[in-house]
Amino acid sequence: MDQSLKEPPLSALDDAFHAMVELSRGAPPPALPARLSRLKRLRAVLADNEQRFTQAISADFGHRCAIETTIAETLFLQGELRHAIKMLPRWMKTRWISTALQFWPAANRLMPQPLGVVGIIAPWNYPLQLTLAPALGAIAAGNRVMIKPSELTPCFSALLKELIAANFEPTELFVTGIEEGVAEAFARLPFDHLVFTGSTRVGRIVAEAAGKNLTPVTLELGGKSPTIIDASADLDEATQRIAYAKLLNAGQTCIAPDYVFVPEARLAECADKIHRHMLTMFGTDPQNPDYTAIISDRHYQRLEALAEDAATKGARLLRPPNADDPGWRQQRKFPPTIVAGATPEMAIMQEEIFGPLLPIMAYRDPKDVIAYINAHDRPLALYWFGTDDAARDEVLARTVSGGVTINDCLLHFAQINQPMGGVGASGTGCYHGEWGFNSFSKLKPVFYRSPLNRMADLYPPYGAKIARLEKLLRWLS
Ligand code: NAD
Repeated sequence: MDQSLKEPPLSALDDAFHAMVELSRGAPPPALPARLSRLKRLRAVLADNEQRFTQAISADFGHRCAIETTIAETLFLQGELRHAIKMLPRWMKTRWISTALQFWPAANRLMPQPLGVVGIIAPWNYPLQLTLAPALGAIAAGNRVMIKPSELTPCFSALLKELIAANFEPTELFVTGIEEGVAEAFARLPFDHLVFTGSTRVGRIVAEAAGKNLTPVTLELGGKSPTIIDASADLDEATQRIAYAKLLNAGQTCIAPDYVFVPEARLAECADKIHRHMLTMFGTDPQNPDYTAIISDRHYQRLEALAEDAATKGARLLRPPNADDPGWRQQRKFPPTIVAGATPEMAIMQEEIFGPLLPIMAYRDPKDVIAYINAHDRPLALYWFGTDDAARDEVLARTVSGGVTINDCLLHFAQINQPMGGVGASGTGCYHGEWGFNSFSKLKPVFYRSPLNRMADLYPPYGAKIARLEKLLRWLS
């Protein structure tokens, strides 16, 4: 055993993990009533403590718009829970699979089984949703689950730990502390599956640690999600939707539109329209409770540096008229900023922004847009606005991304029957709804041989009988 795991809090982590492993191997898999009981307890924890969660998250952010917590975290989770509770009996059923003629008479079945112990490492930006959405999928699939929340949300993380400990056996669902060293030790545990949501940089470290144990991973990572405004788009409509999606949670959303491509002739008009929509929606008062704060001073300074670098390199910044008011900084609210005329050399086009800064790049030929996207990491999301179906289908066919919303942003994420996940540098694997159940299950193929099956006819000595059967086998294959 790793020496450091003998010291608290790492010893608590190690004990909780081994107790789960023991039961996952030694006891029968949880049947439907046990899984439903866990999902319903999770639903009650959410429903009974909504206010406390909202306040804790807001305290962690400095200020988090309460309605955004409701929409993007609580309601989303309640929807996922309701769906899982309703569909679980069907998801758990052994599935019938057809059998190729040459194996008749026989039967094929696909049997979903819990993997065992699933670990979840979560980020800070939607701390409730990104801990509990994978957890409920893993619980539905019959696993025992350990969650490691983010160090950047200490109030939320302590509350989640307290409420889960009060409502679950530690061998059902366990929330770790966020003390120094826990994250690294957690990633080193030989889980049956590990879900990591966070940055691509840390995702690489976690995947490497998991790889040492051959632990399969779901990596929900970040990156730069492009938004394309086609020449055929209604600019008013597109810019309003982009402005909203960019400022939700002050841009601290993994699938936020990271940057915009617009036809060159409409660059100035597009920048002005997004800027105006942002001001209409969120105003200019840093105290506006609808507008969420930046999670930390470090992140705030990083955003300031990105804006400054873009301005130095020739971009035009559109900011609220009172952007220099010290109230913004005091509240840790970042003035929504459009970076018109961004170019690939600017730092803002080289890293995920994760804040209310929106670079807009001009294009002449839509083929250049596709070439630009394909020359960079596969994005987590892609957005396209317009009415030209051929242009839309060209982008859909020629680019690969985690998901796409056409004529709006973010909404593909909220579709309960669609998988959520990235591709390449934006992630691997997926969950949500039945996709989560399947990701956290072993879908075990089982072949049932019938007593009437004539497989023995193929056994040696082959001789003349096989020559007769060979023709039939070739035909059946
Ligand atoms: P982060 O990568 O800094 O941290 C994520 C988690 O990893 C935290 O819990 C942290 O404690 C843990 N961690 C850090 N170092 C570790 C290590 N060495 N070993 C094991 N765990 C370690 O990310 P963040 O700043 O919390 O979140 C922002 C990022 O998350 C953005 O890149 C965003 O795009 C991404 N994100 C992705 C999704 C998605 O669904 N794809 C959702 C939300 C956020």
